Amino acid sequence: MSELGDLKGCTDGGCIIKKPKGMHTNGGCRCAREIQRAGEVGRKELMKLQMQEKRIAALESAHRWVPVSERLPSKFDKVLSCNTHGVVETKMGNRMHENPDVYPYWMPIPPPPEGVK
Ligand SMILES: [Zn+2]
Repeated sequence: MSELGDLKGCTDGGCIIKKPKGMHTNGGCRCAREIQRAGEVGRKELMKLQMQEKRIAALESAHRWVPVSERLPSKFDKVLSCNTHGVVETKMGNRMHENPDVYPYWMPIPPPPEGVK
């Protein structure tokens, strides 16, 4: 069975997909063109989807808690820290360098909302 098996085809007597039963038109089969068009639309949508997936992955990796065992922030950057009790505060990065057991996670502080200085 070809991959076109589920396609209905058109009512043209010379349809390349499925020969219509009973009454049929003779308007010329447009199925090949339609399939090609669908393929182009599909490819564009797939590319869009792949770009969105990359963007989501980049956003997720930029906005996740980084374990200090994986990477430490710069000592001189203010970051969001999460201590062992789950308390989230802004701290200078050097606190994670000095007390990695107290502040096991950190992440960059997100930028302020647009228009706020
Ligand atoms: Zn057709």
